[in-house]
Amino acid sequence: MIAEFKLIERIAALQGADDGVRIGIGDDAAVLAITPGHELAVTTDTLVAGVHFPLDAAPADIGYKAVAVNVSDLAAMGATPRFATLALTLPSIDMGFVEPLLRGIAEAMKRDSLTLVGGDTTRGPFSITITAMGEVAQGTALTRSGAHAGDSVYVSGTLGDAAAALAMRGHWPALDEAGKLAKSRLEQRLAKPHPRVALGHALRGVASACIDISDGLAQDLAHVARLSEAAIVVDVSLLPLSRALQTVVADREQQWPFAFGGDDYELAFCAPPQSAAVIERLATELKLPLTCIGTVGPGQGVHLLDHDGRVRDVPRGYEHFRT
Ligand code: ADP
Ligand code: MG
Repeated sequence: MIAEFKLIERIAALQGADDGVRIGIGDDAAVLAITPGHELAVTTDTLVAGVHFPLDAAPADIGYKAVAVNVSDLAAMGATPRFATLALTLPSIDMGFVEPLLRGIAEAMKRDSLTLVGGDTTRGPFSITITAMGEVAQGTALTRSGAHAGDSVYVSGTLGDAAAALAMRGHWPALDEAGKLAKSRLEQRLAKPHPRVALGHALRGVASACIDISDGLAQDLAHVARLSEAAIVVDVSLLPLSRALQTVVADREQQWPFAFGGDDYELAFCAPPQSAAVIERLATELKLPLTCIGTVGPGQGVHLLDHDGRVRDVPRGYEHFRT
């Protein structure tokens, strides 16, 4: 065990050089400068052991994900990640745990250019809270409230991989070589999400509304519908599913509900039909699938339809997806 100040020294070593950090770790508060003409987007997420990650999760993955979930919220606002603070509560300072935790945090911060500028260290049951700050040119932040009837609804990437990995934990069937590769792809998607920062940035001025869908597609689109005072209709046959998910779960009827399972750090966004060509070009530029999954209409709520127009219920909770 090492002393708290030693731990803070280790943490301070993670802090990279950044012109915007006028005063960083070591004083009573950080003093930060942002690019003129920009605004700060600020978000906080807490991860609690046993709630947000399994008790046996690898510490490096916990650290990585604690950062990534925050970065995903900045991405959804169209903000560019800049600074972060780290509040750590630890039962004891066990470096066998803390070193890989910090490594995971540093890896994710470096990946998305976040600079650690301060935090707090306390004793108690393990939890980790990160506050992330991003900058966005004045007045250009994306919000949940701008969708209009007639807009198309898109999602980035593929959906359901993380939910499938979570549902299958301890329930994996015997797998052949292709199945094993698919399993490891799904597990990577759960442990190491890649927040869509470049996409969020590029969607400023293009998307009418945007949200990150970490809480599950239906729940998150419901926020957009409510705040935009509109209805969202999703065609479940259009949901983009990865080859890995389709390898592990053979039946389409059992595949698509995973897309509602949450833990996908993808963006859902709305845009008027005339933006379709711009969005197609963006997908090519970013090498990221952007799939139209539905439309915004008059009314309220989120409604799911089959390709043949049959109404489908919103699947709830990953427990229901056990195969
Ligand atoms: P105070 O008593 O003013 O809260 P602390 O001893 O908690 O000061 O922190 C000293 C410095 O170390 C501060 O700059 C604080 O931001 C930083 N710090 C403390 N804990 C962490 C942490 N977990 N991550 C990053 N910085 C931290
Ligand atoms: Mg303190």
